[in-house]
Amino acid sequence: MAGIYKDILDEDRQALFNISSDKWRHLNDYFTSFADGMSRRNMNHSLILNFKKDGHGCSKACEYCNWRNSSFTKELCHPSYTSLANFLKDFWGYRVTFSGGGDPLYDYENFKLTLKNLSDEVKTLGFLPCLITREYETAVDAQGLFHQISFSVDSKNGDARYAMEEIYARKIVTIVYDPARPLTFYKDLYDYFAPSVSHMIIRQDMNELWMCSDPALQIKLKRNILLAMFRAMNARVQFLPGEACLDAYYLMGKEERLGRDLFAPDRVR
Ligand code: SF4
Repeated sequence: MAGIYKDILDEDRQALFNISSDKWRHLNDYFTSFADGMSRRNMNHSLILNFKKDGHGCSKACEYCNWRNSSFTKELCHPSYTSLANFLKDFWGYRVTFSGGGDPLYDYENFKLTLKNLSDEVKTLGFLPCLITREYETAVDAQGLFHQISFSVDSKNGDARYAMEEIYARKIVTIVYDPARPLTFYKDLYDYFAPSVSHMIIRQDMNELWMCSDPALQIKLKRNILLAMFRAMNARVQFLPGEACLDAYYLMGKEERLGRDLFAPDRVR
């Protein structure tokens, strides 16, 4: 946005508007911060929680995990009220997601008061606390704290569906899209979860974003077939591109970061 104003209008400044350089610089700065503010305000805002000291607080071992070896979650982390209020002060959305890091419901017995306080604080600030987790059984106990629970699933779900049936919060199933799996795998997942959830999200695996173009094209084609298949089944399915995570804002303890800092710090894109 700022670039457009600079490249297109700067050279026409004198001719069109007869504005002095100083005033133009001021105007350009104004539009730059306005554009940055607009993009920031509408982007998803999440809290990255990790409840294991000196480690990764999650009992699962997903092969595509972006967090397990991340240097960002090597310490116990949850935000203070001040950092939370600061993080959300310019946010124009209404849902704030409690996410990992580790799993937000890891070691729930010891951290439920922390989670409750965070949930209350988010509500006090005028937002709806939402959760993404893989701890299905614990989610039954914790559901009163959240407006919406998004279950992240894969083939190792066990009896997750039965735990979900006991959840009265709004339920979403998030599936990390793995192009190596056959389409029938996703159809089975859909059949398994559809009766108990509001809708389903197919989320792009971050690792897929950096594949070379040929496989990437095939993956895209396969994904489009999958989405067409779901729509033909009248499924409430949404595709969440990895870019949405890269452009989202995250709060870890006191520090705020953009998704690109977390997921692609060493990638040239
Ligand atoms: S549930 Fe999430 S944090 Fe835990 S291993 Fe799987 S991807 Fe990583």
